[in-house]
Amino acid sequence: LNYQKTHFVTSAPDIRHLPADTGVEVAFAGRSNAGKSSALNTLTQQKNLARTSKTPGRTQLINLFEVAEGKRLVDLPGYGYAEVPEEIKLKWQRSLGEYLEKRQCLQGLVVLMDIRHPLKDLDQQMILWAVESKLQVLVLLTKADKLASGARKTQLNMVREAVLSFNGEVQVEAFSSLKKQGVDKLREKLDNWFSS
Ligand code: GDP
Repeated sequence: LNYQKTHFVTSAPDIRHLPADTGVEVAFAGRSNAGKSSALNTLTQQKNLARTSKTPGRTQLINLFEVAEGKRLVDLPGYGYAEVPEEIKLKWQRSLGEYLEKRQCLQGLVVLMDIRHPLKDLDQQMILWAVESKLQVLVLLTKADKLASGARKTQLNMVREAVLSFNGEVQVEAFSSLKKQGVDKLREKLDNWFSS
């Protein structure tokens, strides 16, 4: 697949407003500031693809991008915003869980976590929901360039070890938008999901 051809399709305020549940979707999730927009831009070799997600007022929207007909990347709202009221957070978490559980066309979940601060509560929750829904997960440890290679390997091994406890198909890779590290691994996984 040529990810450079990816284009914005639509935004949805919640999972009930997503387009028809057909084709194949791969969802991207992560705490705000984890590097999700940068990763989407790097994957698609576009400077501003994920900018839509950064427009004030749109940060809580689900943004859908089409790679090819019926093959969509789903940019889920970043979680972990401190300033969001608890009630809204809980509501959003519930609907995320529901999306992972019920969306038939969803083939896989990419969870992005800063390599220096991996596996926060909500990251673990996302992986757990995905595994419970029999979804495959690709964990990208982002901003890998921020660590020296020894520390990077230590973190990678630690997270790989930790995800074993989820008893699911969870692959963990280091990723850097800055250094274009891990991009091939990401493409390979997406190609695989989109062709199933
Ligand atoms: P999002 O909120 O998850 O969409 O995160 P962004 O993609 O906007 O990135 C958050 C911040 O981290 C920005 O200041 C980016 O420049 C920075 N960032 C993202 N990816 C990388 C990376 O691979 N390396 C480094 N050093 N910084 C990064």
